[in-house]
Amino acid sequence: MNPNKKGYFGKFGGRFVPETLMNAIEELTDTYFRMRKDKKFNQKLSGYLKDFVGRPTPLYFAQNFTNLLKGPKIYFKREDLCHTGSHKINNTIGQVLLAKEIGKTRIIAETGAGQHGVATATAAALFGLKCEVYMGEEDIKRQSVNVERMKLLGTKVVPVSSGTKTLKDAINEAMRDWVANVEDTFYVIGSAIGPHPYPLMVRNFQSVIGKEVRKQLLSVEGRLPDCLVACVGGGSNSIGLFSTFYNDKKVKFIGVEAGGFGLNTPKHSSTLGAGSVGILHGTKTYILQDKHGQILPTHSISAGLDYPGVGPEHSFYKESGRAQYVSVTDKEVLKAFHLFSEIEGIIPALESTHAIAYMMKNAKKFKKSDVVVVGLSGRGDKDSGIVEENE
Ligand SMILES: *Cc1c(COP(=O)(O)O)cnc(C)c1O
Repeated sequence: MNPNKKGYFGKFGGRFVPETLMNAIEELTDTYFRMRKDKKFNQKLSGYLKDFVGRPTPLYFAQNFTNLLKGPKIYFKREDLCHTGSHKINNTIGQVLLAKEIGKTRIIAETGAGQHGVATATAAALFGLKCEVYMGEEDIKRQSVNVERMKLLGTKVVPVSSGTKTLKDAINEAMRDWVANVEDTFYVIGSAIGPHPYPLMVRNFQSVIGKEVRKQLLSVEGRLPDCLVACVGGGSNSIGLFSTFYNDKKVKFIGVEAGGFGLNTPKHSSTLGAGSVGILHGTKTYILQDKHGQILPTHSISAGLDYPGVGPEHSFYKESGRAQYVSVTDKEVLKAFHLFSEIEGIIPALESTHAIAYMMKNAKKFKKSDVVVVGLSGRGDKDSGIVEENE
């Protein structure tokens, strides 16, 4: 589905930004809507996705996992095989290419786990643009390998010491930078969040995932999947997988959020499972807030899901019942991480492992003849330290 002219999916989305950003956002919207249909732009983008990112990524039938669960047939969409190790690059290549078309010379971004920072730094290097990435001091400590990667790619990493020194504070700083430098600067947002047109634009750049799945599954199974399962942080890999099947009402969508220590504790990041409607980072959506509207601290074993908001299109899917949102705990994720690595020979990102853990817990709810596609959003080498610490 598409949002209305003002960027609303039902009652969610829109643009809640300072007046000083309106011009830049209007310019971005105009350019994006033009380029979206531009043959040359799309050819360029497809060329980079193919030869630089490594698309199409495989749709892999996980025989061992399927046998073990004695449940449905389970396929994995292998975004872990994208250049830089996750789906994030599908979006950053698109946005930085767009920045180049508008004539911007400077790229900014924010990052939590560092995955989006690395993907942005990579695209900026490819297209020869200056790049600065905001990152909370706490995250810089936790994710030193990704900080090094960004530096090697020629990006300046700017430490953020306000608030909880994590992702939401880095986003606030990046927004401030954008307001001050809007003339020459393009803000690359890393998930399907933020003011219109970002949720739509990021969704469309990531929808290459779902489009490939449709084609690949039709060719091996001769039919559409019964169910799609993906982890939800800000919601970009999941919406990229789901949205193509929006009108195929028989295809079920299941989004898996980070349950952390459990939803009965304050330590989780289950925005759709436990949040309420509010405004965060320029969009109206489900957020985790206290009764005064203050953003609550979040927790997840996976830094990439550790965010107190979610994309507005997911909020719409939740309210309309198109998708179901569930959560799994850190503990369940750790168990699934080991099991999956050992039996499939693939080390999944802890984020993606949420979707795997959901399948382990719920295989019995499916029919044996069902076909399920699970989004494997990234690879897990980056997580070996965190896993060790939690053992
Ligand atoms: C960032 C990240 C996520 C979460 O972001 P979404 O926008 O919800 O996709 C999930 N998996 C991996 C591997 C990530 O790096």
